[in-house]
Amino acid sequence: MFAVHLVAFYFTKLKEDQIKKVDRFLYHMRLSDETLVDIMARFQAEMEKGLGKDTNPTASVKMLPTFVRAIPDGSENGEFLSLDLGGSKFRVLKVQVSQEGQQKVQMESQFYPMPNEITRGNGTELFDYVADCLADFMRTKNLTHKKLPLGFTFSFPCRQNKLEEDLDVDILALVNDTVGTMMTCAYDDPNCEVGIIIGTGTNACYMEDMSNIDLVEGDEGRMGINTEWGAFGDDGALEDIRTEFDRELDLGSLNPGKQLFEKMISGLYMGELVRLILLKMAKVGLLFGGAKSSALHTKGKIETQHVAAMEMSKEGLANTREILVDLGLEPSESDCIAVQHVCTIVSFRSANLCAAALAAILTRLRENKKLARLRTTVGVDGTLYKTHPQYPKRLHKVVRRLVPNCDVRFLLSESGSTKGAAMVTAVASRVQAQRKQIDKVLALFQLSREQLLSVRDKMRAELEYGLKKKTHALATVKMLPTYVYGMPDGTEKGKFLALDLGGTNFRVLLVKIRRRSVRMYNKIFAIPLEIMQGTGEELFDHIVQCIADFLDYMGLKGAQLPLGFTFSFPCRQTCIDKGTLVGWTKGFKATDCEGEDVVDMLREAIKRRNEFDLDIVAIVNDTVGTMMTCGYEDPRCEIGLIAGTGSNVCYMEEMRNIELVDGDEGRMCINTEWGGFGDNGCIDDIRTQYDKEVDEGSLNAGKQRYEKMTSGMYLGEIVRRILIDLTRQGLLFRGQISERLRTRGIFETKFLSQIESDRLALLQVRRILQQLGLDSTCEDSIVVKEVCGAVSRRAAQMCGAGMAAIVEKRREDQGLQHFKVTVGVDGTLYKLHPHFSRILQETVKDLAPQCDVTFMLSEDGSGKGAALITAVAKRLQQPQKDN
Ligand code: ADP
Ligand code: MG
Repeated sequence: MFAVHLVAFYFTKLKEDQIKKVDRFLYHMRLSDETLVDIMARFQAEMEKGLGKDTNPTASVKMLPTFVRAIPDGSENGEFLSLDLGGSKFRVLKVQVSQEGQQKVQMESQFYPMPNEITRGNGTELFDYVADCLADFMRTKNLTHKKLPLGFTFSFPCRQNKLEEDLDVDILALVNDTVGTMMTCAYDDPNCEVGIIIGTGTNACYMEDMSNIDLVEGDEGRMGINTEWGAFGDDGALEDIRTEFDRELDLGSLNPGKQLFEKMISGLYMGELVRLILLKMAKVGLLFGGAKSSALHTKGKIETQHVAAMEMSKEGLANTREILVDLGLEPSESDCIAVQHVCTIVSFRSANLCAAALAAILTRLRENKKLARLRTTVGVDGTLYKTHPQYPKRLHKVVRRLVPNCDVRFLLSESGSTKGAAMVTAVASRVQAQRKQIDKVLALFQLSREQLLSVRDKMRAELEYGLKKKTHALATVKMLPTYVYGMPDGTEKGKFLALDLGGTNFRVLLVKIRRRSVRMYNKIFAIPLEIMQGTGEELFDHIVQCIADFLDYMGLKGAQLPLGFTFSFPCRQTCIDKGTLVGWTKGFKATDCEGEDVVDMLREAIKRRNEFDLDIVAIVNDTVGTMMTCGYEDPRCEIGLIAGTGSNVCYMEEMRNIELVDGDEGRMCINTEWGGFGDNGCIDDIRTQYDKEVDEGSLNAGKQRYEKMTSGMYLGEIVRRILIDLTRQGLLFRGQISERLRTRGIFETKFLSQIESDRLALLQVRRILQQLGLDSTCEDSIVVKEVCGAVSRRAAQMCGAGMAAIVEKRREDQGLQHFKVTVGVDGTLYKLHPHFSRILQETVKDLAPQCDVTFMLSEDGSGKGAALITAVAKRLQQPQKDN
């Protein structure tokens, strides 16, 4: 018993001594975590340098854009060809991706030799040879009748200009092996966004945000970056880490001074590093009793596979002895232990260095995504990683220690590089096909100039119908007289109450006008949905309740103030203080109102309450209020536009053109109610299925067709319908229509404004969508943004075409060559959408080139305008009363 212990003790002691000896000798190769963190930081700086336009030319880590923009999403489909041109052989594969909805890949392949004269010959010969092999493969596999998309793996650094190289008509993708690995793994795990190779050489790629890639145009989405990290240190950045053995190895290599990081890591060099170390140790008498063999002197005699064999946990020591004996050495027990430890130090350093650089990439990914914690997958390929017994677990452990805030999964890629080429091709071909389908949908929203001109001309015709006695009753654009004859002249003064019933809120205001200065106090009240869609009495009781609150709040109870009522719905008027509701629009549907005089309804509600009395002087459309407000400051303002919940316009028309109102002198403001344009089907040629769906789902189906294509209440809903359809076609959200997406109204127009903002990075778009409960990828986010853009752009253009009809009419009616006019505008869509106002203005300029139209934002048009109109009406009332 004792003897056994003694032997065990002796052996442990022996081992400890040997390990200490080697550790001392190779202390420079044993990297502390502190050093690794330092290397990680250096690599982060290198990546930054490689990505920058100005710094790239001198960067040693080249960070090559690969033009691979998307990773597999599992919906790839079809047959693809793939070529893998490695160092010594050349392989052609046919890959069948995901047949019958199962996510699976089948491969058939054939190796072809790569004769020396071809690899050393010129490019044309090489590609001729490749083409011959390909033709042979197609013949033997009976594929000659098909034209399959083809991917090409090329494991050498390669600057790509675009994915579809023009080498041959069929070539869809030229793929670096790291990218192939990433793509292959991503097919099985969509979280995979990094690919590394630890084999003969070493390299890594990852998905970088386009906005960080200076060398490629465009800021949307991500692109695979082939780091070519093997060259890290070529500018001297790792000199303090490199040892005398690294320098010796480099000097004896085919490319001295190049790929210095790779030479400390990869399989091509690991055995040789061990050999150089053993030789030196033998020379200084630390091994083999100072004896050397000629094999130990010979370059390349120790290979990486030997290192792996020596490090095997059980047979390692026996293997070491065998290998050393084969090298013509006579190793002692302690020699074997020492040599084994040399191998461990060299291969561990390799794993450490790889881990440091990988940790830098992971940190970059996490920071790009602005996450506190990153969950991601790294696809790995390469013989060293696959066959060395300890390598993977060491690498994983160090990475996890270096980036504790990343949950990293390592996924071994099965025949990664070749299959990857097929995957890249499959993705490229999927993206191409999807792009076509998406473009087809977006094209429905792209109106040609001819179409816009036709909208303008049809609108013009409708304006005329609405004004004429004969056609008015059937006209879709109602052209309602407002009995507002004059604009404010600056003499108005006094205190007024104003009410503003818009599409969403109700506001009560106190407006004080004195010598061209206007002061306002107001309170906003929400109109609950049940009131919007309850009875008319309830609606007006609620309104009066809000007025009572406001008067209380302002201490005005009992004051007899003149009141103007801004009512943003179509009203047929016979005088300034009477207005019969033609029909509810937007979100309103209260009963017993249509066909009734809303001023009477308000008066009755006030009576019912029996608390105060009000002098209702004017009922005002919000467009008119807006025009008035702007007209107060700019006498050229004769048009009012609202682009808010709804869409509408008013303008000053010649009395002689207004057949419904007697008198030919002067002008009167006409509330066009242009939202009803198209209700006779005249713009059905440009309405899409999505517009029809939105219409059918609305409170007033068939009505307000133009408004439903142009205003805030509907734009988000149109977008939602398109998203549902694209998802149904499998082009978005992985084909999954979520409950959220099915919910009417979730996609508010304010989200269009946010998503389309130029200041927003794609990830923020993604976050908005995620807050909406839509689980979107980066690619999804791009598509959603495009959809929003198409919908809002069309809205602005159509609105512009309508405005062009109005200003052209006014120009012609006045017989002018040039017409200069100001449009007063209000509405949150116009004010807050990042592009709507610009596109609207551009369209007007284009479609009404003889008009010089200035757009003026009205500050609180509806409220102030109502007060001004009340003031003007009061002023006009006075002489009548005096008579
Ligand atoms: P209303 O037209 O009801 O009198 P607004 O002019 O304020 O009132 O318009 C409100 C409408 O504007 C909302 O119903 C919504 O459709 C739209 N909207 C709200 N926020 C935004 C935004 N940030 N960008 C674009 N549209 C918006
Ligand atoms: Mg309004």
